[in-house]
Amino acid sequence: MKACIFHGPGKVSTESVSDPRPGPGEMVLQVQAAGLCQSDIRVYKGEKYARPGVIPGHEVAGVVAALGEGVEGFRRGQRVTLCPIIACGQCYYCQRGLRNRCLSRVTLGYDENGGLAEYMLVPPPIIALGHVLPIPENVPPERATLTEPLACVLNSLETCRLSPGGSLAVLGAGPMGLLHVLLGRRLGAAAVVVSEPVPERLEEARRLGATVCLNPESDDGEKAVREVTGGLGADAVVVTTGVPELVSQALALVRRQGVVSLFAGFPPGSQVQLDPNAVHYSEVTLTGSQNATTDQYRRALQLLGVMPEADAVNTHKFGIDEAKMAYESRLGMDGLKSLVLF
Ligand SMILES: [Zn+2]
Ligand SMILES: [Zn+2]
Repeated sequence: MKACIFHGPGKVSTESVSDPRPGPGEMVLQVQAAGLCQSDIRVYKGEKYARPGVIPGHEVAGVVAALGEGVEGFRRGQRVTLCPIIACGQCYYCQRGLRNRCLSRVTLGYDENGGLAEYMLVPPPIIALGHVLPIPENVPPERATLTEPLACVLNSLETCRLSPGGSLAVLGAGPMGLLHVLLGRRLGAAAVVVSEPVPERLEEARRLGATVCLNPESDDGEKAVREVTGGLGADAVVVTTGVPELVSQALALVRRQGVVSLFAGFPPGSQVQLDPNAVHYSEVTLTGSQNATTDQYRRALQLLGVMPEADAVNTHKFGIDEAKMAYESRLGMDGLKSLVLF
C-alpha cells in the first residue's frame, strides 16, 4: 500500500510499504479520508516531537477492512473513526475518565502509526478502550475526520463553562478558531467576538456566525469586547493560535471571574509576561485544554451529524501521492485544513 512516512522535520514522503494484516485483537481500516492537524504541521516544522519513521495522521475516517482474532462488536464494511489515544486505564487520570491526561499516554500518528495511508492497523488497546467509534449515517467521511478536532473544541468550551446567552472571544480564526465559533454558537453564546489578522479568515468567521470580527492590527479589541458585553468583558476568552503575546491580551478581554483558556500549543521555550493582579483582583481562571475525553469524542461525532457547516474548514484536498503538498500547503495562510482522500 501507499503510506505517508515522517522522517524528521520537513521530511515526509509517500512510500510503498507492505499492507497491514490484523493480528489477534487488531483491526485494519481502509482509510477514506485523513485530516492534517495544526499539531501535525508543528511536527513538520520541528516544534513538536514525533517518532521518525512513523505514519502520521490521527484524524481518520475509514471502513473496517479486516478483523483480527477475538475482535467483536464490529463488522467488515462498517464506517468508523477513532479516538487516537492509547491510555493505560489504570492511572489517576484514567480512573477519573480523563484518558487525554493519562500519565503514560501514547498517541497514534506521533508515537505509533496513524492513518495517512491506504490502510491503517488499529492496535488492540484502541479497540479495547472503546476508541473505535462507529460513524453515524448522517456524517460523511470528510466531515467525520473532524471528530478529533471538534472533540478538542468541545473540551475547550466545556472548560470555559460557557453559558447560553453569554459571550465568547476567540483569538485566531484558523480551523480550530472557526470550530470554536461554530460550536460556541451551537452551545448558545450570544456574542462571539473573533480577532484575526488575516482578512479572508476573519470573513469566514463572520460567515460562520461570529457576531463581532476584529483585526488586531487596526481595531481596538478591548473597546469592542466591552461594547458588546455591557462594559464587563467576555465570559470566556480562548487563545487558539500559539502566539505567546495573546495571553496577556486575553486577560485584558475577559470579565471578572471569567475564564481564559489556552487551547493552542505554543512553540517550545515560549515565555509570557502577565500581570498577576489581573488574575488576582478579577478572580480570573487561567486554564488550558488539550485533546478530549472519550465521552467528548462520542458527543462530537453526534454533533457532526447536525453540523454540516463544519465542512467549511476542510478547504484543501489531496491524494496520498501529494501528501507532502498537503503539509506544504499548510505553511501558508491560504485556506484552512488539508485532507488526504483515498
Ligand atoms: Zn488533530
Ligand atoms: Zn492512564
